[in-house]
Amino acid sequence: MSERKDFLRTIVEEDLKSGKCKEVVTRFPPEPNGFPHIGHAKSIAINFGIARDYNGYCNLRMDDTNPTKEDTKYAQALEDAVKWLGFEWKGDVRHTSDYFHQIYDYAIQLIKMGKAYVDSLQEDEIREYRGTVTEAGKRSKYANRSIEENLELFERMKKGEFKDGEHILRAKIDMSAANMKMRDPLMYRIRHAEHFRAGDEWCVYPMYDFAHCLSDYIEGVSHSICTLEFENNRDIYNWVLETLNLTPPRPYQHEFARLGINYTVMSKRKLLELVESKVVSGWDDPRLPTIAGYKRRGYTPESILTFCDQIGIAKANSMVDVSQLEFCIRDDLNPKVPRVMCVLEPLKITITNYDAKEDIDASYYPHDVPKEGSRKLPFSSEIYIERDDFMEDAPKDYFRLTPTQSVRLKHAYIITCKEIIKDDEGNIIEIKAEYSAESKSGSDTSGIKVKSAIHWVDAKESKEVEVRVYDRLFSVEAPADEQDLNPNSLKVIKNARIEPAVIEQKPDVRFQFERQGYFYADPIDYSDAKPVFNKIVGLKGSWDKKTKQNEPTTKPQVKKEQIDGEVVAMTASEQALFQRYTDTLKLNSEVANTLARDAQLSSFYEEALSTLNSPISLANIVTNEVARELKQMQVNELKFNPSQIAELVSIIDDGTISNKIAKQVFEEMLTSGKSPNKIVQEKGLVQISDPDVIAPIIDDIIAKNPDNVSKFKAGNTKLLGFFVGQVLKSTGGKANPQVVNKLVAQKLQ
Ligand code: ATP
Ligand code: MG
Repeated sequence: MSERKDFLRTIVEEDLKSGKCKEVVTRFPPEPNGFPHIGHAKSIAINFGIARDYNGYCNLRMDDTNPTKEDTKYAQALEDAVKWLGFEWKGDVRHTSDYFHQIYDYAIQLIKMGKAYVDSLQEDEIREYRGTVTEAGKRSKYANRSIEENLELFERMKKGEFKDGEHILRAKIDMSAANMKMRDPLMYRIRHAEHFRAGDEWCVYPMYDFAHCLSDYIEGVSHSICTLEFENNRDIYNWVLETLNLTPPRPYQHEFARLGINYTVMSKRKLLELVESKVVSGWDDPRLPTIAGYKRRGYTPESILTFCDQIGIAKANSMVDVSQLEFCIRDDLNPKVPRVMCVLEPLKITITNYDAKEDIDASYYPHDVPKEGSRKLPFSSEIYIERDDFMEDAPKDYFRLTPTQSVRLKHAYIITCKEIIKDDEGNIIEIKAEYSAESKSGSDTSGIKVKSAIHWVDAKESKEVEVRVYDRLFSVEAPADEQDLNPNSLKVIKNARIEPAVIEQKPDVRFQFERQGYFYADPIDYSDAKPVFNKIVGLKGSWDKKTKQNEPTTKPQVKKEQIDGEVVAMTASEQALFQRYTDTLKLNSEVANTLARDAQLSSFYEEALSTLNSPISLANIVTNEVARELKQMQVNELKFNPSQIAELVSIIDDGTISNKIAKQVFEEMLTSGKSPNKIVQEKGLVQISDPDVIAPIIDDIIAKNPDNVSKFKAGNTKLLGFFVGQVLKSTGGKANPQVVNKLVAQKLQ
């Protein structure tokens, strides 16, 4: 059981103690209208977890009351998800449709009690009659139908004598109830549709509010746990069970907060849209927050359950940072999986003073992982390293191979660059290097000091593999639609090279590729002839940095780059800054992290912020443009100061210049050190937003391009971009793009 006791478990314990319930029975009741997602995992963990913790049981029930949207393949996916997460339901999978006869009988009972009636209002009338939060509703004239008439009509509804929407069965409660849900809620509707299990036996289907409480009762559920949006439905839940005066014990409903995660969408409806529009490859696309997606990507059930446990159960909805989930999978895999070497973008190294071949013994696990196992790493005079592990003109804080800086090949020798070979276009295609024979890892007597160790593979013995590198599906925290998709959410690398043992020995299916992240052999596309690996998660994330704050740092603080890819903890004051940036100033965690960890940058930022209260825009320019400059020089060597950056942001914010022009102004500030306003004035860079100035330019361009105008009018709407582009070009980028867009569209009408 988890150490913390949440409010649901507190309720369960009280109910057991008071005798309100004898046995804990819960249920997980999904609608089979899509694949389950991580929100469902939370609900599964709660329902099955509580049943387990109190020696009760949990049912899996398909809530299949809407025949038009449901399907067996979704029901199957739900079963798979529960099993994969490691839970067992009691007996067979249940279905609300199993209870259709009993539910129907309960409806008849309510009609006979005068507590339900057949209404024949139109859908929009029903809505109108319901009233508003401040105004009572009014009851339909059909509510006066006699019990006999209601029984007869309901019978005929069942027999299929009416069309969809012609009649509806409603509970007779209170049209002026403060809780709008209690204003004669709908109980049964007509649907002439084939049900995936019941076939065409029924053409009336019970509504959620009527079916759910009764299904819970029929199954002997003690605690009916659902998400907060059902809070107002609790009154109906109780009303149905109480009005029918059912033999005890009866179930009670309790609500908890829905899980939301940033950078993704969660509802099955939205996920279905992504699947149907082929934005993703299917319900198990590793970028989706579906259980099938996480499974395919390489997440473990343990990591997902740990995450569900960590986020806890609360009564207030909140958005959880996806990096917290990423932290959980990293934390789970770190002590479990073998470390191997894979080069994603190979650069060839020829070691000119080595002309042998050897197999280097290398452990699969680092010292702090208590696992045994090793492999042979073939080494020869031709190897590959990662393209960006070599730099010809490297900045000071670059610790890898350069013409003047040696580097260690992990598990092997230290090499030194001797010659750079380039193609005709000046691209580096090969490095000639020398190794130091005395520098072998484990018995190094060379005395050569290096700043880092890089991964590599043997050129001949390594195997070609495909690596699929996944990033977040959306580029904004709270995506609205497909416009917010991250265009780089999938990068397929066809010719990465991996050390042979991974393919030949298969020590595992999940690996840490040294310095790259955690990877998983794709369960579907992988074959020995064509191995495919999915990136599960990178090695570090902002969440690690947040949670590791209290651990002592034993390593010296290496700036920006770590020798072994481990995360260095933040100091207490960095941590405080990070908190202020994310909580108070609402910066995203990447930006906050960059600022907080760099004293120069953060004091520059703070100073700019003291002149201009525009935290987000300032942070962006400081962490991008200013940070780039500070890689080359010290703060006191910069030609501009924080208040000039603030001035630049202020004239972007007020529309004086566009973002594009801002780049130009910044370039000028770099060299001349003049103030942004001065640069804008001198160069006449003020953004042109005045339609009277822009309109004649547009007219001119339209006049000069009669062909394109007629093509546009004939339906080639893509040419709008052409005209806008021409106008921007002829104003040297100074015209306000929004104004131009609008005017061009008007004029081409
Ligand atoms: P969706 O909007 O994604 O379709 P739903 O609530 O309609 O979700 P159901 O299949 O009806 O999905 O839900 C099954 C169970 O899972 C319900 O008890 C529901 O409350 C719970 N659940 C669904 N989404 C979440 C979530 N994001 N967080 C926690 N529980 C959830
Ligand atoms: Mg739903």
